[in-house]
Parts: sequence; C-alpha cells; structure tokens
Amino acid sequence: MLSCHSDTPQEILPVERDPTFYYASGDCVVRVEQTLFKIHRFQLTNNSPVFESLFSLPVGELPLEGSSEELPIVLHGDTAFDFRSILKYIYASVIHTQVHSISVAELPHVIAVARLAHKYEMESWQTWAFLVFSFHYKKPTVSKQLSPSDIATIYNVCDKTEWLTLRTDITDLWLQRIQSDSTLLSVALDVAEAHSDKRFLVRLYALHLARTHTLSTLQSPVPFPTDGIPLIHLNRMLTGHWSLSTSYAKLRASPPPFPPYLVYCSVSDHEECLVSWKSSWEQALAKAEREYPLCAMDARMEKVKRALVDGVSRWTCYDAFVGNGEPIQRVMDDFKLEDHFFPVSGLLGVVDRAYEFCLSQQVKVE
Ligand SMILES: [Zn+2]
Repeated sequence: MLSCHSDTPQEILPVERDPTFYYASGDCVVRVEQTLFKIHRFQLTNNSPVFESLFSLPVGELPLEGSSEELPIVLHGDTAFDFRSILKYIYASVIHTQVHSISVAELPHVIAVARLAHKYEMESWQTWAFLVFSFHYKKPTVSKQLSPSDIATIYNVCDKTEWLTLRTDITDLWLQRIQSDSTLLSVALDVAEAHSDKRFLVRLYALHLARTHTLSTLQSPVPFPTDGIPLIHLNRMLTGHWSLSTSYAKLRASPPPFPPYLVYCSVSDHEECLVSWKSSWEQALAKAEREYPLCAMDARMEKVKRALVDGVSRWTCYDAFVGNGEPIQRVMDDFKLEDHFFPVSGLLGVVDRAYEFCLSQQVKVE
C-alpha cells in the first residue's frame, strides 16, 4: 500500500537526519521510519511514475508536503535502509553503477533497490538490480551475504516481474543454503507455496526426504522428522515418497514392451531377445536404485537411460529398439516428480489419516 501524508508534529520529534542524504540544496523532505532525507524531488519523479503522482497530489490551501522537516512526505511500509540504498545508486555517478563495479558486499543494497523499484515502478532500476544480481549470484561468497529474507525478496520480485529464469536460479541458491541450514526450509516452503511454485516445492520436498534418508538405518529406524513443517507439506512429502516407491517398483517389473519380432531375428531366437531385454532392464533399474535414493529420482532415471544406451551394440534387436534411448526417454517423461507429490484431492484425506496413524504409532515412514 502506498500512502503519502504528513504526521502530527508529536510523531516527528524523535527523527534524525540521514548523515548522507540530507542535501542543503534539496527541495523535498522525505521521512522513512525515523529518518529524514532531504533530497531533490526530480531524482525520484524522473525515475518513477508512482513518485511522480505522489509528489503532485493537489494540496489546496495547505502547505506543500515535503516542504519542511515539520511537514515531510512520509513513506509508509518502507525501511530507511531500503530508501537509503536506492538513493545511494540514484545519486551515484554512472561509473559507480556499472554492473561490474558493484561488489558482492553491496548485494543487500541491490536487493533493497529491487524491492523499492518494484513498489514504485522504477523499471530501469529494477532491471539494473536483476542484472547486478545475475552477475554475482553464482559466486561462492554470495550466499553468506544474503539473509533468507533477502533471497525471498529477490524471488518474490522476480516472480512478479516474470524474470523466471533468474527466479529458478535463485531457487538453486536457496537450496544450497537449506542444505547447510535446514531451519531455512520452512520459510522457503511458505514462499514456494504462496507462489504455487510446484517445481520448487518438489525440490524442497526431495531435499528434506534426502536428509531423512541419511538419518534412518535398518538397525535404528527413526520417525519421520517433522521439524515444524506444516502438515500440508508433510502430507505431500510422504505421499510423494510412497507414490514414487510403488511406481518405481511397478516400472521395474514392467519394462517398455520390446517389439515382438524384428527382421534381424528368427521367431525362435527372438524369445531369447525378450528375456535378455527384461533382464537388462531390471539390472539397469536395480543398479540405479542402489546409486541414487528415491528422492533423487531424476538422477536415477538418467542413470537407467545411460546404462541401457551404453548397452547398445550387444545384439541387433536391442540396438534397433533402444537406439539413442528414445523409448527410455518416453518412460522418463511419464515419470514426472510433480505428479507424485501432488495427488488428486480425493486422496489427501486418506493420506492425512495414514500419516496421523503413523505419527501416533511412531512408525517409521519410509
Ligand atoms: Zn530378436
């Protein structure tokens, strides 16, 4: 919500002037939280249609808002840090705003720019913030500089502005952070859920399942770690895990149908081809299963495909069928992770009850 009005004098008493952005030559006083900024109106109106209309509200007989410390323009819902950050770059010389000249340590300011630029429709500053972020985000030191709320901000703004590639890249960064600090999982789940980002949700679920996978052993099973995660997400994780295990077991038992007879074979020899194909399939799936846990299903299926394609040239029927892996790819395309974690709504009640039963019995859910 945007608002722009003056507060009563009592409310503006404890404020302080910003040490940097309080220009004697400024023509406009803006208050953000308890900080007063005296700046040049044009710097904001030139960059933002929202500021332009805020600053040109009809005032009638009243003194103009922003004309003095007693009557500043008050920006509600923003922080002094954010406002100072955007002024830092608006007032900087061109050379100091070059994407390459912004250091990693400045990223929290850049994210503040993204946040305000989105709110005040400062399109070029928004693009600038994304370009700077894109330039830096893969550097190993970046994640230390950013708080979870910084990451959430950039994700939110990317989502609203359809910088979807950057949004996906940010989810990578986020997953790395969660890997080293699992307490960040809940925030990420909330954000992904708020944006209906199923792909991100699935990756978060897989991450939690992978962590769980390492906790439990045959000798000492542990209850599924709930870690304060809302029930809806626990539901989906357990549903997904169950659905993936049963589907994978079915897949193992039913290889893609091998053609009944190809020109290279006689009818009687081809019987042997069918048997060999079935055992190649089973071996490839069993090997991939040992190498990758259930929650790393994408990598597991890739392994299956590689193993089967590498077997080409063993016998002609197999070559003709497996070829470059296209029939395997078809199976993989059908095996989409999202389908397993987001079952049809009718199932959810059943899963709720099953899950609650497991919790009440302290049964290991695997
Ligand atoms: Zn054959």
